[in-house]
Amino acid sequence: MLFTDLGFSPATLPALLKALSDNGYSAPTEIQSAAIPAILQGRDVIGSAQTGSGKTAAFCLPLLEQVMLAQPQSVSPRRIHALILVPTRELAAQVGAAIDGFAKHLAKRVKVAVVFGGVSINPQMINLRGGADILVATPGRLLDLIEHNAVSISKVNCVVLDEADRLLDLGFGEELGRVLQLLPAKRQSLFFSATFAPAIEKLAQSMLSNPLRIEI
Ligand code: AMP
Repeated sequence: MLFTDLGFSPATLPALLKALSDNGYSAPTEIQSAAIPAILQGRDVIGSAQTGSGKTAAFCLPLLEQVMLAQPQSVSPRRIHALILVPTRELAAQVGAAIDGFAKHLAKRVKVAVVFGGVSINPQMINLRGGADILVATPGRLLDLIEHNAVSISKVNCVVLDEADRLLDLGFGEELGRVLQLLPAKRQSLFFSATFAPAIEKLAQSMLSNPLRIEI
């Protein structure tokens, strides 16, 4: 399989290929080959994938394609197209940096905002004033920002749970439930976890609709 075979549109493919080659990616990994076409078709996906499988690019690349196709540049303020929920500050920063890297040759600037707890909320509120195309967040800080009216997730098109097992292990279950209630019912959902204990399956069932299951 090649990155050219996964269903990216001619409008975004050259810029994505350039960024992938800058990163030294020559061919998609197994999870990328399986997940990217389904995500581009709008399907929900549940992926069992360890860190190192290439899952970050598997969901970030299609999100960038969706942002490029969906949003006329003039729309202001920007609404959040995709929300990526992660368990830790480190993962949030890592995913945000990965998206910026994949987006760097695209014809439009894609705004990625990264928010997490344990630091002052004010700079994050200021950063969100102009909206964002993609928001990477830990659940607790996201809820704080919503309570401060700094962001709304009621029109998100796609939600991603990255490392769902760690989200639950770190005690974010209750916050996740509250976040999910604030999302539109009609949306795409992507769910990635290294392990699938019953509580994780239950969370997945509660948020996915007819998902493609990918086990790597
Ligand atoms: P992840 O599982 O998303 O944390 O990615 C693990 C590592 O694999 C990261 O360092 C990525 O940059 C790298 N990676 C992801 N996809 C590819 C690919 N198609 N070719 C080469 N390296 C990749």
